[in-house]
Amino acid sequence: MLDMQHETFLRFPEGKAKAFTLSYDDGVEADKKLIGILDNYDVKCTFNLNSGMFPDKGLHDRMSEEDSYALFSRCGQEIALHGHRHLYLTKVSSVQVVQEIVANREYLESKYNRLVCGMAYAYGATDDGICNILRGLGVHYARTTVSTGNFSLPQDFLRWDPTCHHTDRSLSEIARRFVDTSPLDERKARESYLFYVWGHSYEFDDNENWHVMTDLLDTVAHRDDVWYATNGEICDYVNAFGMLQWGITDQLVFNPTHTDIWVERDKKLYRLPSGRTVYFEV
Ligand SMILES: [Zn+2]
Repeated sequence: MLDMQHETFLRFPEGKAKAFTLSYDDGVEADKKLIGILDNYDVKCTFNLNSGMFPDKGLHDRMSEEDSYALFSRCGQEIALHGHRHLYLTKVSSVQVVQEIVANREYLESKYNRLVCGMAYAYGATDDGICNILRGLGVHYARTTVSTGNFSLPQDFLRWDPTCHHTDRSLSEIARRFVDTSPLDERKARESYLFYVWGHSYEFDDNENWHVMTDLLDTVAHRDDVWYATNGEICDYVNAFGMLQWGITDQLVFNPTHTDIWVERDKKLYRLPSGRTVYFEV
């Protein structure tokens, strides 16, 4: 039986083969309008917040501490780290990197009374040493500013490259490609698609182009074959897939996690219930 070859592909919750997520930085006034739009379209976003910059009004119109809390404590979107003082982590000592993250995490977790394990690098700045520090501090994922232009899942969640920024000239073409194609269309199965867009909401005000976001969501939102999730939900789900325990012949798999996991194998979709062992049909 060991010569039987089966390739198993991750599928998102409910067996969906595509996911869409957003990531917006800095905690600025325009996030209020953005969240209103996201709610209308039922899409999810991760907002990356500093914790030591509140009085700096005028710097891209950052929100006051009170406004920030009023908005993000109730909006149903994810909050994540962005550094205490928005420092270039590659331009400070390791001790300061630790302080940037610990102070940021302590503030957000105690203020919002929730676990905050995600992050976006200020200025996209990172390197191997910083990734190691983040791992030691329990950060599960961190977004860069490097565009992939494609729908691949990250190889390393601490260097999570997004598909593109919302100002990307190809944004509408990429969005069209995302909805018009599917890994299920291929004769041979393919990995699931993730479309990941990032930016700053003040850019929509500065450039008077909020239509960029509504045009994007007109294309990608409210589709049955897409999972709309925060960055953290996607990271947790993909990590849960990685924790599956396989039998030596690949015929059985145990799901030790708290979440049901969907996989596609030999063109068949399987739900692997939390805490259960599944035997595959040969
Ligand atoms: Zn920033």
